[in-house]
Amino acid sequence: MNLPRPSAAADWDLSAEEALHRRRVRRMLLTGGTVMVLASLWWGSYFAAQRWWGMVASDVLICAAGLAVVVLAWRQRLRASSLLILPVVVLVLVLQSLLLDVPTLAAPRSVHLYLLPLGVFALVAFRHEKPWLARGAPLLCLALFLGFSATQAGLDSPFQLPDALRVWGTWVNALLAVSTLFVMLHILQTDASPLTARQIELRKAIERGQMVLHYQPQVDAERGVVGAEALVRWRHPARGLVMPGDFIPLAERTGLILPLGDWVLDEACRQLAQWGRDPVLAPLVLSVNVSAAQLHQADFVPRVIDGLRAAAVAPERLRLELTESVLVQDLQTIADKMAALKTHGVTLSLDDFGTGFSSLSYLKRLPLDELKIDQSFVQDLLEVESDATIVDSMLALGRSLGLKVIAEGVETEAQWRYLRDHGCHLFQGYWFSPPLPQEAFEAWVRQPKAPLADGDRPQAASAG
Ligand code: C2E
Ligand code: MG
Ligand code: MG
Repeated sequence: MNLPRPSAAADWDLSAEEALHRRRVRRMLLTGGTVMVLASLWWGSYFAAQRWWGMVASDVLICAAGLAVVVLAWRQRLRASSLLILPVVVLVLVLQSLLLDVPTLAAPRSVHLYLLPLGVFALVAFRHEKPWLARGAPLLCLALFLGFSATQAGLDSPFQLPDALRVWGTWVNALLAVSTLFVMLHILQTDASPLTARQIELRKAIERGQMVLHYQPQVDAERGVVGAEALVRWRHPARGLVMPGDFIPLAERTGLILPLGDWVLDEACRQLAQWGRDPVLAPLVLSVNVSAAQLHQADFVPRVIDGLRAAAVAPERLRLELTESVLVQDLQTIADKMAALKTHGVTLSLDDFGTGFSSLSYLKRLPLDELKIDQSFVQDLLEVESDATIVDSMLALGRSLGLKVIAEGVETEAQWRYLRDHGCHLFQGYWFSPPLPQEAFEAWVRQPKAPLADGDRPQAASAG
C-alpha cells in the first residue's frame, strides 16, 4: 500500500514535537538531579554534625546518583538518566518512609511527598516507552504516595528519626517537594504548544548561523546580468535545505522575522562589500526582501543606512523589495520611510505586483524605482489571454510612472521574448538560472554567455 508522503511541514512538526519532548525531559532531569544533590547535601551536613554516619553514607549515595543524573542529562543521555533516577529515588523514598520517617502523633511523614513530582516526571519521560513503563512508573509513584499518605505504615527500626528533628524536617521536605512539583508543572506548561517548539528551533537556527542566502540572477534585455535577488534558506542539520515558504510565515507570526531580517540585511551588506572588491561583481545590485514588521520598526531606516555604512557599501547597490501587504497599514509613515531611504540612495521595488491590494493611488504616492510582475502572471502569459492583457497593462503602467519593470518566474524562452518585446526591462527566472549558493552564483556571473542573435537585440523603443 502506498501511504501518502508526509509533507515537509508535517516532518517538521514531528521532529519539532520530538525536540520539545526531549527538551522537557532534559529540563526535568536537571531539576530533579539538582534537588537530589541539594537535599542530600542539606541532610548529609546535618547528619554529619550529629555523627550519624550511616545516614551520611546514604546521603552520599543520593548525592552521587543526583550528580550522575545531571551529567547524563547534560550530555543528552536522557533515557539512561531517566532510568537511573526513577529506581534510585523510589527505593530511597520507600526505605526512608518505612524505616526513618514513620509518622507519629507529633510529626507527620514527609519524605513521601517527593513521590508526586517524581510521578509527573515519569509520566512525561516514559511517554514513548512500553506500556508497563509508560503507565506503570507514574502509577507506582502515585500508589506509593497514596499508601504512605493514608496510612501509618512503617517498620519498627532503630533508625527512626527523633520527632524534634522530624517536625522541622517536615517543613524542609514539604517546601522542596512542592517547589519541585511546581517547577515540573511549569516546564510542562511553558513548553505546551508545538508552535513554541518550532519557534525555539527557528530562533536557535538564526542564532547558530544555520541561515544562508542564495542568489538568483536578474538580467537585462540583452541577458546581461545586472543584479541578483537574495533569497534566504535554512540549512537544517537534519532536514537539509529548508525553503523560505516553510519558515518565513512562522517567522512573521512570531516576530522572529525581525532578527532574521536583520541577519539577511547584514549578510547582504557583507556580500555586497565582498563583491565590491571584484571588478566583475562590483556593479551588481542586490535585491533584499523586506517584511512589513521590519519596515514598521521605528529605527528601520537608520538600521539599513548604518548597515551599509558599516560595510562600506554604496546605498545604490542595495534594493529593497516590499510587497503590497506592507502598504495596507499607515501608508504615510511607510511612504516617509521609503523617501528617507531613497534620499540615501537605496532603491525600492514593489514585489509580487498585482497579487495584493493594487491601488493606483498608492503607486503615485510611493517613491518606487521598480515594479516586479508576479510570477503567477508570467506563468500563463502565452496561454491565458487575460494574463497577457494584465502584463501589458503593468508594463504600460510602469512606463507611464517612469518605473523599471522586472518580470519574475520567467521559465521559457518564449516568455522572455514576449516580455522583452513588450517593453519589460529586467528578468528573473529559472530559464536564466535558479537561485544559487554564493560560489555557484559568482561562477554563473563569470561564465561567458552566448552572444544574442541580431533579431534578439532589444529595440530602442521597447527598452523604455
Ligand atoms: P519572492 O520574493 O517573490 O521570491 C521569488 C520566489 O520565486 C523564490 O522562491 C524563487 O526561488 C522563485 N522563483 C524564481 N524563479 C522562478 C521560476 O522561474 N519559476 C518558479 N516557479 N519560481 C521561481 P523562494 O526562494 O522559495 O522564496 C519564496 C518567498 O520567500 C519569496 O518570494 C519571499 O517572499 C520570501 N523570502 C525569501 N527570502 C526572504 C528574506 O530574506 N526575507 C523575507 N522577508 N522574505 C523572504
Ligand atoms: Mg522578492
Ligand atoms: Mg515575488
